[in-house]
Amino acid sequence: MYDTVLAPLRCPHCGFSADEHEWVTEQLGRRGNAYRLGDPVLVVGILGLTAQLTVRAVCPRCGRDVAGLVDVVNGYLGKEVRTS
Ligand SMILES: [Zn+2]
Repeated sequence: MYDTVLAPLRCPHCGFSADEHEWVTEQLGRRGNAYRLGDPVLVVGILGLTAQLTVRAVCPRCGRDVAGLVDVVNGYLGKEVRTS
């Protein structure tokens, strides 16, 4: 089971973009929780209060994997998913 983060997606492969897309992460304890950017992620002992969360998605247009990073600052998710 994964946890999800609802956030914008812009595919670096084909340029597809969506205002809301479900990214998944294995780093928040696999509790099946759904988060949005800016939400608190108080998962003591699993992820630090300040960390980088790795998330991933599958682009609905080209089907390729997209990897992203979300900053966690003072226990809160940052405001964007960074893709490279
Ligand atoms: Zn794509």
